[in-house]
Amino acid sequence: MEKVVIIGTGCAGLTAALYTARANLRPLVLTGLQPGGLLTTTSIVENFPGFPEGIDGYELMVRMQKQAERFGAKVQFGTVEAVDTSKRPFTLTVDGDPVEAETIIIASGAGHRHLGLDSEAKLEKKGVTYCATCDGALPMFRNQPLVVVGGGDSACEEATYLTRFASTVYLIHRRDELRASKIMAERTLANPKIKPVWNTVVTEILDTRQDTVTGVRLQNIQSKKEETLDCAGVFVAIGHVPNTQLFKGVIHMDSDGYIIPEKGARTNVEGIFVAGDCADRIYRQAVTAAGMGCAAAIEAERFLAHHC
Ligand code: NAP
Repeated sequence: MEKVVIIGTGCAGLTAALYTARANLRPLVLTGLQPGGLLTTTSIVENFPGFPEGIDGYELMVRMQKQAERFGAKVQFGTVEAVDTSKRPFTLTVDGDPVEAETIIIASGAGHRHLGLDSEAKLEKKGVTYCATCDGALPMFRNQPLVVVGGGDSACEEATYLTRFASTVYLIHRRDELRASKIMAERTLANPKIKPVWNTVVTEILDTRQDTVTGVRLQNIQSKKEETLDCAGVFVAIGHVPNTQLFKGVIHMDSDGYIIPEKGARTNVEGIFVAGDCADRIYRQAVTAAGMGCAAAIEAERFLAHHC
């Protein structure tokens, strides 16, 4: 029987692991399919306090995991397939095996939002990708025109990163101004290799018949005019979808699937707590996720002291 099971090893999960480990609760921390969470796919993180020169996202997560393990956290590669919350201890099914837990901290983060085009699904990994740091250096993208879709910090970061490899990066955004933070937006628009294409959406990714990306069909949403643009890759960076499907109908969440915390890090089910991007549609920063992980850990610790 575990005292605390933490679902997720992003900033929220690993901070919860650090705090519960230091409370001698020996948390079991389950990685899911993406150990380290989305931050491992970022290049340099410049806004996590304590790193004046910035820190590589992957390295930050490795350090967080080591710090939690130093105090007794058990990090295990595994995916939670089901959770029975009807009675305590809760029972999780992890890769087919049952795990009993007095408390659960949901820190399952968020995944990449897709455009929802048929051609996008058919050409995924054949030129369509959701991660420039993972795929940008592939030979197929070198010295080629590339497309980034989106107008937030992620899109700016992806576009800037891709200028290392691409001949030109077209930044396709559905509005005429970026949503990204001012510093990122200014840096992006000042980059001579990045060409913004405003008020425009991707209506099709070409070419499913050739089974590889050769271009995109675009539509200007004001004039409705269509055009095609040649490119070797499409990097979709249009935000995220919370990984909370497992708890649908059990844990209170909003219409987009973000868990609604009650009184800080608690959920509507006693003994289940939540932290990070799966419960945060507003801030979604590494440092806020870490803060929420700390809060969830303190709640779990207090709950165990009262109930077990
Ligand atoms: P985001 O801020 O939600 O931006 C998503 C962008 O995609 C928006 O520009 C949005 O357009 C566009 N979009 C959404 N759905 C679309 C669709 N179906 N078709 C076309 N465009 C669509 O997401 P994000 O950029 O991933 O950032 C998420 C959070 O992480 C933010 O809080 C951000 O600050 C943070 N972040 C920080 C850093 C950093 O500081 N280093 C790096 C990455 C992310 P509209 O603008 O019209 O809504």
